Amino acid sequence: MTGKMVTRRQFLKHAGATAALLGLSEAMIPQLAKALEQLSTSGKPPIIWIQGQNCTGCSVSFLNSNYPGVAEVVLDKLSVRYHPNVMGGTGQTAVQAINDTVAAAKAGKGIYVLVVEGPIPLSENGDYCTFGLNDTKKKNLDGTSVQVPADKTVHEWMQELVPGAAAVIANGNCASFGGIPAANAGVTGATKVSDIVAQIDPKKPMVNVGGCPSHPDWFLGTALQALIALKVLPGGKPLDLNSNLMSKTFFGQLIHENCERRAAFDAGLFLEDWNDQNPDMKLCMFKQGCKGPVTYADCPTRRWNSAVNWCVGANAPCHGCASPQFYKDLSPLYQPLPNVNFAGISPSTDVLGWVAAGATAVGIGAHYLYKQLGSKPEEAEGGEK
Ligand code: SF4
Ligand code: SF4
Repeated sequence: MTGKMVTRRQFLKHAGATAALLGLSEAMIPQLAKALEQLSTSGKPPIIWIQGQNCTGCSVSFLNSNYPGVAEVVLDKLSVRYHPNVMGGTGQTAVQAINDTVAAAKAGKGIYVLVVEGPIPLSENGDYCTFGLNDTKKKNLDGTSVQVPADKTVHEWMQELVPGAAAVIANGNCASFGGIPAANAGVTGATKVSDIVAQIDPKKPMVNVGGCPSHPDWFLGTALQALIALKVLPGGKPLDLNSNLMSKTFFGQLIHENCERRAAFDAGLFLEDWNDQNPDMKLCMFKQGCKGPVTYADCPTRRWNSAVNWCVGANAPCHGCASPQFYKDLSPLYQPLPNVNFAGISPSTDVLGWVAAGATAVGIGAHYLYKQLGSKPEEAEGGEK
């Protein structure tokens, strides 16, 4: 795949301006640009990006990156060998690019990083999700057998691609945790990528990027951090992951802690009805189903769409799409978290009635909300320890 050519100067301009957003030290950017430049002439680190049971939303999110210079230079310099939506080749030519990359890695001529978008369906022998072909044996009526092409499942691709990959990146909530496709996993057997990788090679370096979709910075920053950890790019700094294998740079703090409406929560000022409140009042949306108190992500500070806004800022409750509990355990999305027990106080009917009655809510945090999810915050979400 070829990206639009971006000059080193353009890269430095974009990357320098957004280094903090990417979770990279600004001092690293010139080094990174130099390394990427060298890599473009002397063997780019290849990426093989495959899709399981996904909606392609995470690819679209990444390609709509706020920082086209950065996205394009990375796509161009890192040599994305296979990506179903943006590669030039089709059919056997496209699949051959994967086979050539794997063969080169096997021969010790370079490495590749495997990016997986979407969980892996295992029901019906994985037939829900296929691309490319396998040669399989078919018996003739006379007892002889012939080789015939058959659909190759994404699960079979995983078995082929994981062993030789330097690292695996699950991009998006559904790849990382099952997300929406796994909410009814009984149908397709949607299985999170890390479970498949653990079956194939438990020691394989693996990182999850949450979000539905993932934020372009989350994916790009995590991919660069992984390449730095693998020493493909300079620095050699190990990836700082939480217990859900997510980069702490992006998923280290609760949304609730940094939310611009936290003061309203603490004061007991809640949006009670979508129709009778003035949105300018900036009321807390806990009662309308906000999952910010149990979701670790930096949306309030990073924001989306060129840092213009984010869900709560646009008067929509956080749906918790970066959380491992999304979708099944956090739905219905517009219902408040159930049976909340605030610091030992268990309101019977109105979970926040006591707040409205004048009790202070200062200090209420995820630790109490997490009691309802049956685990400590750091266990459930893998927050900072
Ligand atoms: S995480 Fe959400 S947006 Fe991304 S591919 Fe999965 S379902 Fe689509
Ligand atoms: S419950 Fe939601 S809207 Fe209210 S303060 Fe927390 S994150 Fe913000």
